[in-house]
Amino acid sequence: MTDSDTQGKANIGVIGLAVMGSNLARNLASREGNTVAVYNRSPERTDLLTEEHPEAGFIPAKSIEEFANSLSKPRTAIIMVQAGKGTDAVIEQLTEVFEEGDIIVDGGNTNFNDTIAREAALSDKGLNFVGAGISGGEEGALKGPSIMPGGSAEAYETLGPILETIAAVAEGEPCVTHVGTDGAGHFVKMIHNGIEYADMQLIAESYDLLRRVGGLEPAEIADVFEEWNSGELESYLIEITAEVLRQKDEETGEPLVDVILDQAGSKGTGVWTVQTATGLGVPVGGIAEAVFARAVSSKPAQRAAMQKMIEARPEIQEAGENFADDVQKALYASKMVAYAQGFDAIIAGAEEHGWNIDKGAVAKIWRGGCIIRAQFLNRIVDAYENDSSISTLLEDPYFAKAVAEGEAAWRRIVAKAALSGIPVPGFSSALSYYDALASERLPASLVQGQRDFFGAHTYKRVDKEGVFHTLWSGDRSEIETEPSTH
Ligand code: NAP
Repeated sequence: MTDSDTQGKANIGVIGLAVMGSNLARNLASREGNTVAVYNRSPERTDLLTEEHPEAGFIPAKSIEEFANSLSKPRTAIIMVQAGKGTDAVIEQLTEVFEEGDIIVDGGNTNFNDTIAREAALSDKGLNFVGAGISGGEEGALKGPSIMPGGSAEAYETLGPILETIAAVAEGEPCVTHVGTDGAGHFVKMIHNGIEYADMQLIAESYDLLRRVGGLEPAEIADVFEEWNSGELESYLIEITAEVLRQKDEETGEPLVDVILDQAGSKGTGVWTVQTATGLGVPVGGIAEAVFARAVSSKPAQRAAMQKMIEARPEIQEAGENFADDVQKALYASKMVAYAQGFDAIIAGAEEHGWNIDKGAVAKIWRGGCIIRAQFLNRIVDAYENDSSISTLLEDPYFAKAVAEGEAAWRRIVAKAALSGIPVPGFSSALSYYDALASERLPASLVQGQRDFFGAHTYKRVDKEGVFHTLWSGDRSEIETEPSTH
């Protein structure tokens, strides 16, 4: 390529200049070596961005053709438009004006299955398509997000160095890595969001216990979280929780948390995670309970009906000594379980789709820029560096020891919550999961017996090889048989 080919041209373009796209474009433009072409369906947004940010030196385009002409080859464009139909519409337009070898990046919150399908369709046309999960919200887009790109290794050669200029930096390393081919990036971003749900739910349960059993006021709980934030729980979510709890409502002077309606919303990535993990046969109870807890909170009619029927609620238990310490330990142990489950889903997804995902690298790029950024991720990096073949993070020596140290407190907290009538679905499902893994025998043997009784689904025995069925409607003798196919 000659200088005249690249002169006056942009090395990267952004399509979709609402809040995320504008911020990402500004971030790109602020890094040395980047010239950024920008385009938006409605030209007003393009005009506004270029007028407000002359320092960025954007190359604005009024049409998709002009946009394509303003990019040096291989043309590389990041789409930041409404996921779904918006993304499809823009991809279609770009397909008309881009040429073989050019790179289309979808930076929106897209379902990884859509990304797999789009990648297949575009690679047939010789175009590179990269689904890139981008986490960190508006601020991350502007100052440095965590970026999870999928797509081909060839596309990453061009795209990677550009993304490295804008990604957050954690411990000296940019929070971006080529996660795997086609939909791997959006898949990992989806799991990230699922883990985020679990983490938030566990923090919310901690707050509820400190308030209702511990008897602390929101501002006092903010102090507790602030203290926790200087230890092993140090994380963005703990930090912002303290800030939210300290906030007073301007109108009433009450803690803001008391005037916010207690019905949690969601945009669906938690549901995707649970659906996907369930389909893969991976128990992600921590994430599922978080999704369900939001759903329960958003059922005001059922909550009101139930409350009307109940005459008395259990008495709140005494907090006793070191209650906040116990909650902290329960939170940490439950968090380890939730993350272990999330990584299990990544491993299963990688196996299913043929992605070669480096788990340690994923933990590394989550250390900065994204919502679940935390000290704790270093423990996951270490665990996979020690032994990348562990069957669960919970078998890593650090995790095993930390859970064992917190176990007694964890049990006290779950028991106290149950006796006090305080819902702790995150804590208790994590503990049950741990106990299930730790139990030598599970009642799954009985479930197998039931399945064999009503559906002749067969079972295996502990004492010999083979597949067996009991003739339940006959003389109840056992026969050796073929595995059930129904
Ligand atoms: P948005 O509200 O999701 O979408 C608005 C943008 O999409 C506008 O630029 C709009 O163009 C464009 N658009 C919609 N339909 C279109 C179509 N048919 N053809 C062309 N353009 C179309 O914007 P956003 O909030 O900035 O989010 C952008 C993406 O980032 C979304 O996928 C969103 O899910 C994701 N997101 C991520 C995070 C995060 O933390 N990672 C946070 C928020 C959003 P007009 O101006 O012409 O209407």
